[in-house]
Amino acid sequence: MTRTSPSIAVHAGTDVGRVRTGNEDSYYAGRTVLAVADGMGGHAGGEIASRRALGPIEELEGATHESVDAASNALAEAIAEANRIVLEHGQANPELSGMGTTLTAALVRDGRLHVAHVGDSRAYLLRGGELTQLTSDHTLVEQMVRDGQISRAEAAVHPHRSVLTRAIGIERGIEVDTLTPVPLQPGDQVLLCSDGLTGQVAEDELERLLTEHDDGEQAVRALIDAANAAGGPDNITVVLLRAAEEGVQAPTASPGRSRHAEDTTRLDAPGRDDASGDEPAPTRSISTSPALEHDDTDWARQFSRYGEPQGADGGGGEAGRRPRRRVPRVVAGILAVVVLLALVGAGGYALLSRAYFVGDQDGRIAIFQGIPQSVAGLDLYWTQEATALPVDALPDHTQQRLDQGVTATSLQEAQEVVARYERTIDEAQSADDAGDDTGADGAAQDAGGSP
Ligand code: CA
Repeated sequence: MTRTSPSIAVHAGTDVGRVRTGNEDSYYAGRTVLAVADGMGGHAGGEIASRRALGPIEELEGATHESVDAASNALAEAIAEANRIVLEHGQANPELSGMGTTLTAALVRDGRLHVAHVGDSRAYLLRGGELTQLTSDHTLVEQMVRDGQISRAEAAVHPHRSVLTRAIGIERGIEVDTLTPVPLQPGDQVLLCSDGLTGQVAEDELERLLTEHDDGEQAVRALIDAANAAGGPDNITVVLLRAAEEGVQAPTASPGRSRHAEDTTRLDAPGRDDASGDEPAPTRSISTSPALEHDDTDWARQFSRYGEPQGADGGGGEAGRRPRRRVPRVVAGILAVVVLLALVGAGGYALLSRAYFVGDQDGRIAIFQGIPQSVAGLDLYWTQEATALPVDALPDHTQQRLDQGVTATSLQEAQEVVARYERTIDEAQSADDAGDDTGADGAAQDAGGSP
């Protein structure tokens, strides 16, 4: 089996992050098989979905395949099987219905790396100091990049970047992306990770950290630390495969180590290359800082990282256009379902539940929670507070802003916007009563530009 292939070591860790209370990520770090799954669909559902999805992947450990194609097919079939398992488990347990997960898995056979995936957990190859993303995210923003609607830089901070177009456990007949196998070279590093890492740490930083840490375990920890240092809004999972440099015998990973739902960082050190193979791998738990009690200030900062509050001024340019973006038509009906899951489970909910805007509800001013957009016919907001204040009593330009949605980073800020509009309406009415039709415009000040 080893032939001329470089020996490999696998290191892994997962961390709840600094904001969320549960860890819905799961991973498998075996001798020749590795996988990351990022669950969604509520606390219990997400955790169960990601853990169950790993079952068929773990079974690949030790399996032999007749050809390169057979190995690729086996990996894709294991992911399809994971889809069936999660879907059926959701159907059999109504309280879990709607759960789903990403699944990105890799298999090393005869020195070749096979990768297949569904969702936005990524696989990267670091070779010669250069990091290359092997997978292509199944997300709305990736679709928008390919359609030329937004740049990759915009995608990286887009408020919809958690919205998946494909996930495990949602429907039958999942389409699995199977990559062309990559012959591993000594010194190669393969990184599998959830979006809790890639959403927070830029690729050049990943590249730097992987390059500068000779110890694989330290590298895993450094990546997780970097995501937490950037706020850690989501669960962070890292599985790292390293192919030994020429003449260096890499420690071989012990088989069958899965981890999920831990509130501490667990770093699995590579096990001894013992013949029995069933000795438990030494596991080190590294406690992290307790989850931060996030207040509005914290989230205002967090929110600005995801997407700046929309500018209220006409000159807002980029921000002002965003709410009117069209969803690409290629996104099928499944998206509507997945959107909900993604928003609830993949970090989007954390954002939406703390984002507000003031808008027009049937001609009355209202405060909404979420963002003023719809995807595939699904509104990404809901009413938080209705008022009796008539929108048409406001100056025209203010009505237009309300039509777009005047964003706020807290409920209090949204209430302050409403209070200003109320004063504007009162003053306009007083002016009208006095037979004077000036003054309304001058008093109208939108809050959008001054978060
Ligand atoms: Ca995630």
